[in-house]
Amino acid sequence: MSDEGQENRLIAERRAKLQRLREAGNAYPNDFRRDALADELLAAYQSHSAEALAAQPVTVNVAGRLMVKRVGGGISFVGCSATQSATATDAVNQARAYSENAKGYLAGGTVGPRYTTWFGAYTSSRYGTASQHFAAIDSAMDQNNGEIKINCGCNQNYYAYVYPTRPYEIFVCRAFWSAPLAGTDSKGGTLIHEMSHFNVVAGTDDIVYGQTGAKNLAASDPNGALNNADNHEYFAENKPAQN
Ligand SMILES: [Zn+2]
Repeated sequence: MSDEGQENRLIAERRAKLQRLREAGNAYPNDFRRDALADELLAAYQSHSAEALAAQPVTVNVAGRLMVKRVGGGISFVGCSATQSATATDAVNQARAYSENAKGYLAGGTVGPRYTTWFGAYTSSRYGTASQHFAAIDSAMDQNNGEIKINCGCNQNYYAYVYPTRPYEIFVCRAFWSAPLAGTDSKGGTLIHEMSHFNVVAGTDDIVYGQTGAKNLAASDPNGALNNADNHEYFAENKPAQN
C-alpha cells in the first residue's frame, strides 16, 4: 500500500474509533485528577536526597506543563525512570566508543575483512561515503549538551525507532532494554543504527535487518549496504572481531 493509502486508512480507522467513543458517551473523557501541588511537594521533599527519594518512590498526579527535561551525562531523557536513564547513559557511552573506533578504522584507510564484510567490494568513492557516515555518526554521538534525547515512552517489541527529520531523538523500545550493552544487536549498536537514520547524519534506510541479510546485501549491492542502517551497526559492533 502506498504511504498515502496507508495514511488514509489510519485516518479512517481513527475516525471510526472516535465515532464509537462518541456513541458511548463523552468523546474526550478527562478522568485526570490532580492530587498534589508542586509547591506542597517541594516543601515536603526538597530536603530529601536523590537516593532517599529513589529508595522510597512517591507517586502523585500534578497538573501543568513539562518545563524541564532531565539532562544527565549530557543526554536528555524523556519518560525514563532513573534506572532507565542510567542504563541508556551506558548505552550512549558504548555507542560513543563504537563510533570513535569505526571512524578511526576508516580514517586509517584500512580495507580489511571488517570493511568488505559489511560494506562490500572496495571503491574509493564508497569508502569515502562510509568514512563520512562514521565521521557524522561520531560527531552526533559526541554531542554533550542534551542534544541526544532518549525517549523511553515506547512499548513496542522492537529495538528502537527515530523520525529521520527529527534529530537527535531516539525512541527506545522493549528489545533495547533486554539487549546486551555491547556485541551483536546490542544497546550500543542499536544507537549507532538509529543515529545513522537521521538525515543530518547519514540518512540511512532499513533495507534488510540482521547479520545474514546485511552480509548478503554488502556482497550483492555495496551501495545498498551503505544505505542500510544495520550494516553500519554491524560494522561498528565488529562482532566477531575482524581487521
Ligand atoms: Zn532502523
